[in-house]
Amino acid sequence: MARTRVLILGGGYVGLYTALTLLRKARDRVEVTVLDRRPYMTYAPFLPEAAAGSIEPRHAVVPLRRELEGARILQGRATAIDHAGRTVTAATDLGEEFTVEYDEVVVALGAVSRTLPIPGLAEFGMGFKYVEEAISLRNRVLGRIARAATTTDPAQRRRLLTFVFVGGGFAGCEAFAETEDMAKAALRYYPELSGEDLNFVMVEAAPRILPEMGPEMGEYTRVELERRGMRVLLETRLEGCVDGRIELSNGERFEADTVVWTAGVKPSPVLAASDLPLGPRGHVSAAATLQVVDADGVPVPGAWAAGDCAQVPNLVEGEGDWCAPSAQHAVRQAKHLGRNLAAHLSGAPLAEYRHRHLGLVASLGLNKGVASVMGVKLRGWPAWVMHRTYHLLAIPTFNRKARVALDWTAAVFFRRDLVSMGRLHEPRRAFQEAARS
Ligand SMILES: Cc1cc2nc3c(=O)[nH]c(=O)nc-3n(C[C@H](O)[C@H](O)[C@H](O)COP(=O)(O)OP(=O)(O)OC[C@H]3O[C@@H](n4cnc5c(N)ncnc54)[C@H](O)[C@@H]3O)c2cc1C
Repeated sequence: MARTRVLILGGGYVGLYTALTLLRKARDRVEVTVLDRRPYMTYAPFLPEAAAGSIEPRHAVVPLRRELEGARILQGRATAIDHAGRTVTAATDLGEEFTVEYDEVVVALGAVSRTLPIPGLAEFGMGFKYVEEAISLRNRVLGRIARAATTTDPAQRRRLLTFVFVGGGFAGCEAFAETEDMAKAALRYYPELSGEDLNFVMVEAAPRILPEMGPEMGEYTRVELERRGMRVLLETRLEGCVDGRIELSNGERFEADTVVWTAGVKPSPVLAASDLPLGPRGHVSAAATLQVVDADGVPVPGAWAAGDCAQVPNLVEGEGDWCAPSAQHAVRQAKHLGRNLAAHLSGAPLAEYRHRHLGLVASLGLNKGVASVMGVKLRGWPAWVMHRTYHLLAIPTFNRKARVALDWTAAVFFRRDLVSMGRLHEPRRAFQEAARS
């Protein structure tokens, strides 16, 4: 009997766990293909620690080819989904176009940064969703510190050491706090500079930060960050950053060499180039069975979706509520989707996805954190320990768990690695200069 061709779009949390579940439950009945721009799954909760030098960035990603034995991995960018024709169009990094045919599609494309048309943002800002951005932020911060130590111009030094983070949500707070912690640690090697030279500014449009953890933990975090000398500007918007000239809605004007945008996400824009039914905010509409559904809630044959790109009803919270974009939901939805798809292929009934969000743990630098788990709120060192324990257990594969644990252990004995690889982005420069001389 011919195997069912299952195409999984995106090899992130949902893509990896759906493929693993499907291969376990229905290996002899399916031909699994995973299409992703990157050959790895990114464990996003470790990106702030990768940016801060506590984890080797490669250890925060899980190679798809190694973990998905029995699946076909295609590296390319999906550009259009023709579900009526059961075809996806994609392009390689070299620009070559190709198409993939399927019987069942799993849409797991995740989300992209949600930006606003702010002058200078697209040209000057950077995001914080992928490992390359974490590496780049780390190199940038350490590189700016090194340059600031060699300039005698105070205005230039101030600009180099001003880091603006826009968005005080979960990922933004972690990236902000971890990067500052690393920058402070790096200053021990720069006698020319002191902690007062660092100027870390967070800009948040809402009246509080960390909304995911509730007002009490948000306020605790704000006070804690300000105690460390960082500025948290609430009810303030970034209005411009052309060439690093920062303009804020509270009237402040100053210069910064680094602007990091962490102000939320929106579903993958590729969905707009598909004939799949989308919700009001651009997500694929899904039922609690994780089948894609039309406006009347009728399943679209052959289409499934989960994770940040999907609008999945939250049955635990009741009518009209949707699952928030989080790794916690993404992993559980993916396993559920894999089981339902395997059941569908054998004609068995489908189950509905139900999960009560357990809460969140966040790291705010070495030995510092906040946690709100099942009503229990922790601060400081206990929350940080909980963060590390939880994520060490949660990162997929023994291989990655072991490598991350070794990174942390090495840092206890040798301190974290604070070398900047600023030239990583220009690998041919030295050779070209030599060739010209
Ligand atoms: C810095 C940071 C920290 C976070 N920390 C936490 C946390 O502590 N706890 C928590 O619950 N959540 C956390 N999250 C959120 C969590 O990472 C996401 O909810 C989760 O990754 C969603 O999984 P997904 O599979 O839907 O999307 P992703 O994991 O983003 O996977 C999408 C995949 O699709 C691929 N892709 C995208 N477009 C295309 C295309 N056109 N063609 C081919 N492939 C494509 C991408 O390369 C990616 O591999 C964090 C997020 C960030 C950015």
